[in-house]
Amino acid sequence: MKKRRGYIVAGNWKMNKTAAEAVELARGVVREWGNAAGVEVVLCPPFTALEAVARILKDSPVLLGAQNMHPAGSGAYTGEVSAQMLRSFQVSHVILGHSERREYFAESDAFINEKVLTALGNGLKPILCVGETLPQRDQGDTLGVVDAQVRGGLKQVTGEEAENLVIAYEPIWAIGTGKTATPRMAQEVHASIRGILVDLFGSALADKIRIQYGGSMKPGNAAELLLQPDIDGGLIGGASLEVESFTGIIEAAKAR
Ligand code: PEP
Repeated sequence: MKKRRGYIVAGNWKMNKTAAEAVELARGVVREWGNAAGVEVVLCPPFTALEAVARILKDSPVLLGAQNMHPAGSGAYTGEVSAQMLRSFQVSHVILGHSERREYFAESDAFINEKVLTALGNGLKPILCVGETLPQRDQGDTLGVVDAQVRGGLKQVTGEEAENLVIAYEPIWAIGTGKTATPRMAQEVHASIRGILVDLFGSALADKIRIQYGGSMKPGNAAELLLQPDIDGGLIGGASLEVESFTGIIEAAKAR
């Protein structure tokens, strides 16, 4: 049965691909996936390739995302990029609070919350990433950690804005490791995130917000994850760097 929400599959290219390589990859995705019927597809190249990839995606249904953004409108923030700068390249989505930013750049829930509010206020759709470490899972803290990250990241978000949110549940121990959460483990956390969204925005809105799974998703394991009632797509790292593996995941979403 198709989900009412529709799937969203996004590729997080991280710090990979020169502009020329990014163009080649984007061309391949558009060629293999010119018809995105039923699945929303978003490519998130590095900042340096946004303009070049925007030109490739212009006449296709594939959307453009960024991997990060600063909450301020402009100013003395060397090395940072604002929401309006992203908007000027037709960026529609922005990944916020990825675990790599939380870990290597010490991003807090409060700072991520500022970014979420700025993104929404500037017409960008945040993909808010949350997820637990392995020690946190082993100690039985997964749901508590995720609860704090979701509530912390979404403070002051209004019901009107909430429809534009995407949440990505990414267990940190599954990112880039080849270890995937079992469909049951992932569904348990996704259902609990859905419950938090109901609490924050009411059930009608919560039912519309897509919750992606991320963490070593591949064509071979995507179908069973996507079959889960609260898994509405994928945030894909490694497997998004090759046309075949990325489009294989999109195909799995299309077939659901
Ligand atoms: C990610 O970093 O968002 C991710 C899901 O990576 P991977 O697919 O490589 O585990």
